[in-house]
Amino acid sequence: MPFTTLNLHPALLRAITQRGYAEPTPIQLAAIPAILQGGDVVASAQTGSGKTAAFGLPLLQQWNLQRTSTPRKVSTLILVPTRELATQVGDTLRSLAQYLPKPIKLAIVFGGISINPQMLHLRGGADIVIATPGRLLDLIKHNAVSLSFVQTLVLDEADRLLELGFADELTQLLALLPPQRQNILFSATFPEQLSQLTEDFLRTPTRIEV
Ligand code: AMP
Repeated sequence: MPFTTLNLHPALLRAITQRGYAEPTPIQLAAIPAILQGGDVVASAQTGSGKTAAFGLPLLQQWNLQRTSTPRKVSTLILVPTRELATQVGDTLRSLAQYLPKPIKLAIVFGGISINPQMLHLRGGADIVIATPGRLLDLIKHNAVSLSFVQTLVLDEADRLLELGFADELTQLLALLPPQRQNILFSATFPEQLSQLTEDFLRTPTRIEV
């Protein structure tokens, strides 16, 4: 099944070709249409399955249809467990977005480095924020970013977010998001604590297992 069956913007198809992806992976084939429908999605996906593009492509497609605001309001928030994953997801999204007619502003924020350059980068807003939970909360406390306009939340590697002890931070962040939003959760495993969280905050999600 080629990528052209997924109703993606030609600019995204061009980036896909440039990255050398010939066909969607099974998780992409299942998750892209489900996410484009706008409802909540829970996907069981391992690293290496092509999960980043599985949520990245529909997010970029949806973002491209929105009116861009100035200053930019964060409409998509992607929470990840580690700095490495934040960087990796940011690089993939930037590459997939490169031919879109509207320039996108991504903000990639994580702890362990000085907060000041991240605060400066967030001046004027951002379209998509990719963040580790602790640093994002710090930035919110400094009024460097607002989550009041988030329409889509992604938890990537949700099992690792909990393993690394981010449950409290996640609860705090969820409370700051508008209740009307799309939730997307990707995880390799579903331990009890994660199943509980999934039940608490997802609304009749489409479940994807490949
Ligand atoms: P991920 O699971 O998102 O970390 O992706 C694993 C690797 O697969 C990355 O190097 C991606 O660039 C690559 N990849 C993602 N989707 C495809 C695809 N449809 N065809 C070939 N490679 C892909």
